[in-house]
Amino acid sequence: MKELKGIPGAPGIAQGPVVLYRKEAGGAAQRSLEEAAALCLGRVRALYDKTLRELGEEQAKIFSAYEMLLEDPMLLTPVQAAIDAGTPAAQAAVEETKKLSEILASKGGEYMRQRADDIRYIGEMLATAVSGEQTSYALPQGTTPFLLAAHELTPVDTMQFDASRLAGLVTEMGGATSHTVILAKSLGIPAVVGAKGIMEQVEEGAEGYLDGYTGEFVVSPDEKTRVAFEKRVEEDRLLQAQIGTVKDEMAHTLDGSRISVCINVGKPQDMKGAGEVQYDGVGLFRSEFLYSSETKKPTVEEQREAYRQVIDAAAPNMVIIRTLDIGGDKQIAYLNMPQEENPFLGNRGIRLCLQNREIFEEQLEAILTAAADKRVKIMLPMVTSLHEIEDTRAILEQVRARLKQAGTPYCEDAQLGIMIETPASAILAQQLAGHCDFFSIGTNDLVQYIMSADRGNAQVQKVYNPCHPAVLRMLAHVIEAGAQAGIEVSVCGDLAADLRFTKLLLGFGLKKFSVPLPMVGRIKYKIRNTDLKDARALAERVLAQEDEAVISDMLEEA
Ligand code: PEP
Ligand code: MG
Repeated sequence: MKELKGIPGAPGIAQGPVVLYRKEAGGAAQRSLEEAAALCLGRVRALYDKTLRELGEEQAKIFSAYEMLLEDPMLLTPVQAAIDAGTPAAQAAVEETKKLSEILASKGGEYMRQRADDIRYIGEMLATAVSGEQTSYALPQGTTPFLLAAHELTPVDTMQFDASRLAGLVTEMGGATSHTVILAKSLGIPAVVGAKGIMEQVEEGAEGYLDGYTGEFVVSPDEKTRVAFEKRVEEDRLLQAQIGTVKDEMAHTLDGSRISVCINVGKPQDMKGAGEVQYDGVGLFRSEFLYSSETKKPTVEEQREAYRQVIDAAAPNMVIIRTLDIGGDKQIAYLNMPQEENPFLGNRGIRLCLQNREIFEEQLEAILTAAADKRVKIMLPMVTSLHEIEDTRAILEQVRARLKQAGTPYCEDAQLGIMIETPASAILAQQLAGHCDFFSIGTNDLVQYIMSADRGNAQVQKVYNPCHPAVLRMLAHVIEAGAQAGIEVSVCGDLAADLRFTKLLLGFGLKKFSVPLPMVGRIKYKIRNTDLKDARALAERVLAQEDEAVISDMLEEA
């Protein structure tokens, strides 16, 4: 059995033989750049038509953008010049487009990054075409659906397959917003991205299971894992059928307790589609995307505009904006942050903001003024100590006073809450609850810090185990502490979207979940089929356990 851990790409559970999609040198004859560009153009146009037919205008746009790039002298002229100067054609195509792509990427922002990806894909496509390189894959007989596995899948790669046979996609490259993910979501195909080691470790045709909710990809499973996955497949099938029916409904448990299901967003565009389902506000707006430029910080106006877009789209529901959570694995070039030996234990989140007052004040000002006539809450990441809340409150007061004096309208009653994602804050939950307005538990970090296991390190994935009794006792403790103090507690880490934990969290007394938009229907459905009495009994049984493997089995069963 091989277990690879990736990032959840598109929701759903998929099973099937694995088809490895390889790009290999040799094969067909070499072509001139002009011939190669014409060949690529033909393919791209055909894919535009296919995508337009199968998915619609919005998705097909990717290919019209490629078409324009393939006809653009800005892109082709430097490649030809490099070939004329003696660089091998394929190398020239990759290198010259890479230069252009890097210039675009350095402009920062998600949009530019995606355009940079487009140019890089075109470069690779051209390189494949000029060198006579070929893609190779072996489809299973008949009409059997399969899992398509690759180092990277461009939209061109993905769309050449018959979508009805694509059970799932899994790639080594790609982040949660890559084109692979966007396409997979529109095709309704489960996907896992960022799963390192596929091409070396996975055998062609082996039986595979992927979980687009958790990012797991398992090949040649042992019997126990296979049975567990089969169960997930079946549950997901049932769930899919039911989800449509709860789209417009609020979440109540079977016995009538109202539970909030909010969404996590990372940029204003994530609100697209939110209007089509009932949800209870934005439980986590990660603001880091605003700081993705390599060279300059965002202006107050730029930030205000982004916050306002989300606040307006969510109105009349509440939006919780998390202040800048940079540091750890996320760096900002212009801050000249010193290299740290242990960045996850270093200057990140609220620590960094309190040391960079100007950046922090500007962000607070942008949040308060964006919500002048609307609803917003402010949430601090990586809190460990009371003074971080108090210092922030003092800064907030100063920002408010300045705005008042200037006569600038701002949100006067924005609550201040904290993420509980460090053991220190979790242990101190009872005390901290007296000093802030709400908690949101960031399980992604909390699990890594409790278990002392890097959340992104595949080697310690087994140690990074949310079923561990230490993690679960801590969660129960924080939820209870919030309830005792009468403040709102939510979970906004990935655990909130993991259906295995829904009943348990309800049993702990959780009243608010915040999950990625595609998960809202599934979580609501699960809540609507849970009885609180049963959930509490499960919580009691789980908390009595000492062994994470036993707990994991109990949760699978529940
Ligand atoms: C978390 O740590 O659970 C969380 C929600 O924050 P992030 O994933 O952005 O660190
Ligand atoms: Mg976190």
